[in-house]
Amino acid sequence: MSSEIIYVDQKSGIPLYGIDFLGIIDRGTNVIEVKPITLCNLKCKYCFVSAGDYDTNFIVDPKYLLEKIEEVVSAKGRYKIEIHFAPYGEILLYPKFTYLVKELWKIKGIDTISMQTNGLLLNKELINQLEEVAISRINVSLNTLNREKANFFCSCENYNIDDLTKNILYLLDTKINILIAPVWFPGENDDDIEDIIKYIIDLRNLGYSKGKIQIGIQKYLIYKTGRKLKKIRPKSWDYFYNQLSKLEKQYDIKLKLGPKDFGIHKRNTVASLNVKKNDIIRLQIISKGRWKKEFIGKFNNNYGLKVLLNRPIIQTEKFIQREINAKIIKANYRDNILTASFSI
Ligand code: SF4
Repeated sequence: MSSEIIYVDQKSGIPLYGIDFLGIIDRGTNVIEVKPITLCNLKCKYCFVSAGDYDTNFIVDPKYLLEKIEEVVSAKGRYKIEIHFAPYGEILLYPKFTYLVKELWKIKGIDTISMQTNGLLLNKELINQLEEVAISRINVSLNTLNREKANFFCSCENYNIDDLTKNILYLLDTKINILIAPVWFPGENDDDIEDIIKYIIDLRNLGYSKGKIQIGIQKYLIYKTGRKLKKIRPKSWDYFYNQLSKLEKQYDIKLKLGPKDFGIHKRNTVASLNVKKNDIIRLQIISKGRWKKEFIGKFNNNYGLKVLLNRPIIQTEKFIQREINAKIIKANYRDNILTASFSI
């Protein structure tokens, strides 16, 4: 499937705050979440954001991002800021990634730069470049050590687990810390989760410290707009933490990680949006979204929001730049993310 790519820069007029799949997410802590790309090299069956088959993809200009991140850091206070790359897609597909990281270190107050990746695009040369630009931590999503199962979970034919584990070994001898972050699909990869725990213990037994190689098991969450692994019913948070406690005892390893383990603490938000659910707001449609029924609206110069239509539009160009009254259907104050709906 071919998809269009929209390049988001200052001229595009697309704001970088307020849109969940793009730009900067400020959750009121010292961590600034950055989403510079929506392209993905996989199309995982469980992907909660359905990445890998968007009709339209987005790439954000690094200079535009740097300018906005500088603003956020200045508003939050220039100390102990972590930049965390967590796109709805694969960060290693971002063309200017190492440039962006290098420039970010020039912003006073940033002391950690971390990223999430599925890891399949890693190779020695790229790892050397990532070490050179001083990435602090790489979170690798790895749900099983079994190639067939990985192929199934990620809908691919050749999930190269051997290369991935070799690259993890290579990473261990760099200055970059690693966090292996498997998603636990109850009843589907229970044994695999234990295999990954044993794998971490084996690596630590080789002399790598608890800080160097961590494990962060994630609960499988189902979202309306995400893809679902069939037949799996997610368990409650209580069940999840009880199971983790059991495994902690069984393997004598810390598995329950919280904000403190990552130095996450409360900090100012850049600005609060003064809107609530069911409000009708005036906005300008500024761009298409990822799907035919999704658009990006502009609330003001800094804030954008996702606008969902009741049906797809054929002549999208005519809709863009239009001013409309839309109804807020989701207002996530903590993260400053808005979604509105509009009927055509
Ligand atoms: S789960 Fe991650 S790697 Fe898989 S499709 Fe979604 S964004 Fe891509």
